[in-house]
Amino acid sequence: MLTNFYMHTSYTLTIAGLSIAAAALLASCDSTRTEHITAPPAVTASPTADSSHTLVASTEEVPTAMPAPSINLSADAATVLAMPEVPVLCYHQVRDWRDSDSKQARDYIVPVERFKEQMQMLADSGYHTIAPDQLMAYLTTGAALPDKPIIITFDDTNLDQYTNALPELNKHGFKATFFIMTVSMNRPRYMTREQVKDLSDNGHTIGSHTWDHQNVKKYQDSDWLTQVKKPKHTLEEITGKPVTYFAYPFGLWNKEAIPALKSHGMTAAFQLAAKRDEQDPLYTIRRIIASGYWSPGRLYKNIEGSF
Ligand SMILES: [Zn+2]
Repeated sequence: MLTNFYMHTSYTLTIAGLSIAAAALLASCDSTRTEHITAPPAVTASPTADSSHTLVASTEEVPTAMPAPSINLSADAATVLAMPEVPVLCYHQVRDWRDSDSKQARDYIVPVERFKEQMQMLADSGYHTIAPDQLMAYLTTGAALPDKPIIITFDDTNLDQYTNALPELNKHGFKATFFIMTVSMNRPRYMTREQVKDLSDNGHTIGSHTWDHQNVKKYQDSDWLTQVKKPKHTLEEITGKPVTYFAYPFGLWNKEAIPALKSHGMTAAFQLAAKRDEQDPLYTIRRIIASGYWSPGRLYKNIEGSF
């Protein structure tokens, strides 16, 4: 069983790399354009200006630790699509590169120092992390957001997200969203149930990333129970909170998946950088993968260019 699991995991990672690379190629012109930036620009915001800005944002605009904002689930697609997009970053592993890491895998493995630099850039540039609940309230009711909102997400349950990334998030008061693949909890190199609960207890959002990372486009009837219904229930038991956000494995989705996600209680779903669905933009929220190759300046430019 254990052997099968690891075999499956390595297979998944390989395919994930290929699929995500393909998705990136198929994505908008913006993604193509940003791929060709070779000279990362300096980040221009000054720490002094940012501090005052943070103060204004936290006292007069929108508190970032607000209670669950109201969401209008019957908002029409045109309303949602008319709102300027909020940038969403997608991370996988945060650890130093090993010789055995392939060139392609390094897009999904952000070295610890680089992650520190990326988080510092976000803080210095005046970004404020928000939760998916805040994004939903904004998209469906026009609720206000902090200045320069951003969502930081982590997929796949990797332990280094907890050991390496979390201290950096905490340093800046950032709250993130963790999409958990429930089969992996309590396995070596993955987070435990207690760690997932700890993230939730400390204000991070826990979302579902299926049971074992199967492609949503291939689900038959019973797969929806295994991959969506049961993992949602498991995560709700662990956190004691509703789990209503979903991230598609490999970022892959099709129109048939959306009503199934709705029927299983998901209120939004996150993909990668492909175009949003015109009927169901809340189930095709866009993210960009923050690459391990990206300097802070390049990340800044790619955020600005992609959203
Ligand atoms: Zn994944």
